[in-house]
Amino acid sequence: MNAPLPAEVLKQHLIDPEICIRCNTCEETCPIKAISHDSNNYVVDPEICNGCMACVPPCPTGAIDNWRLMVRAEAYGVQEQLGWEELPGEKALPEMAAAAPAGDELDAPQPAAPAPSAAPGATVPPWSAAHPYVNLYTHKTPMTATVVGNYRVTGADTESDIHHIVLDFGELPFPVLEGQSIGILPPGADAQGRPHHARQYSLASPRDGERAGYNNLSLTVKRVTEDHAGAAAHGVCSNYLCDLAKNDKVQVIGPFGHTFLMPNHPRANLIMICTGTGSAPMRAMTERYRRRIETGENGRLLLFFGARTERELPYFGPLMKLPRDFIDINLALSREAGQPKRYVQDLIRDRAGAVRELLADRNTCIYVCGLKGMEVGVLDALHDVAVQAGQDWSILHDALRREGRLHFETY
Ligand code: NAP
Repeated sequence: MNAPLPAEVLKQHLIDPEICIRCNTCEETCPIKAISHDSNNYVVDPEICNGCMACVPPCPTGAIDNWRLMVRAEAYGVQEQLGWEELPGEKALPEMAAAAPAGDELDAPQPAAPAPSAAPGATVPPWSAAHPYVNLYTHKTPMTATVVGNYRVTGADTESDIHHIVLDFGELPFPVLEGQSIGILPPGADAQGRPHHARQYSLASPRDGERAGYNNLSLTVKRVTEDHAGAAAHGVCSNYLCDLAKNDKVQVIGPFGHTFLMPNHPRANLIMICTGTGSAPMRAMTERYRRRIETGENGRLLLFFGARTERELPYFGPLMKLPRDFIDINLALSREAGQPKRYVQDLIRDRAGAVRELLADRNTCIYVCGLKGMEVGVLDALHDVAVQAGQDWSILHDALRREGRLHFETY
């Protein structure tokens, strides 16, 4: 059992800038706003952090899980952390703190207060998920991949320029699972002259490769030409990726992610809810199921996919060719001429019967990926479906999170 720390000693929570991929998950998860960032780093304020650990499981890289025993008065401040390129080493504590426990306690910080379960989704994978590898390649030791394919998967006459990009790793190992992501290091430097940070993209291909048996994977990348407010903006990495030609070399880090993973046991059902490029992991999972269609071990697939129009929905053609008895496809189109605006949450309510049936089966896992704004709408729709069936949503929601059966990846 851990002995309490002397008051003057702090188990300081730090984020490793060399591993962090700046995905914002920790800042979003922190229930007391102890985490902030600038254009360089994500940092933890020692004056606010209470070691509740809520941010640790959702971090896809483990960069968040760093702790230092410090004399409280000498704790690293926010400004100092923002300037770091790497974590400082361990410091020896002075005599006055000699009573402080050390060693393995650093691996198991004790929460100062219970971590509230504010996260909408699970922080554990489904029980049967395969074991993922993470951080095999880092900013310091990236892997070089070769572009073997790059083509547009949305209508050429639309504003949504979304590309399917295939990267090959040759002879070098890059083991991945559906639901994981990788980081791309775009060449060049930012306005301060520092090398660009990695940008994170979900895999669009299953574990055995974009082409089964090949050491490759695919990404779904939307060319960013405007910011969230609609002002002109040039997405550094998305434009770099969308402009790549065959045989170009790309610096890759990762893989990342240990919770947004698919179940691995027979007859597991998947409810997949996505918008736009959030379809990447859904394509990966669907393709995993499609490749074993003959084995009879698949459960049911229920897909809710939102896009502005059919022509702006990535992979529309191949998706519509999938057999209807293999996957139940529901398209929510928000800007299709002559049609009412539909969001994925509207279709979840329309298909309440099918959703309810799958929710009642403990072999069902739910995946939500895409725009941040859909999170609340999707949760509300699932709540309504459960309540209509006379279920207590808060009990069901807790069970889905606890059992790793409800996963969100939204930006
Ligand atoms: P988008 O085209 O802007 O939007 C897709 C659809 O979602 C549109 O029909 C849009 O309707 C609708 N939508 C807007 N607000 C919504 C809400 N509150 N609830 C439900 N639907 C809503 O999408 P996108 O540009 O492709 O962006 C997809 C998101 O996925 C990005 O934020 C991206 O970062 C994220 N993502 C990407 C990857 C990847 O690997 N590429 C992985 C994970 C997540 P309107 O007509 O109203 O706009």
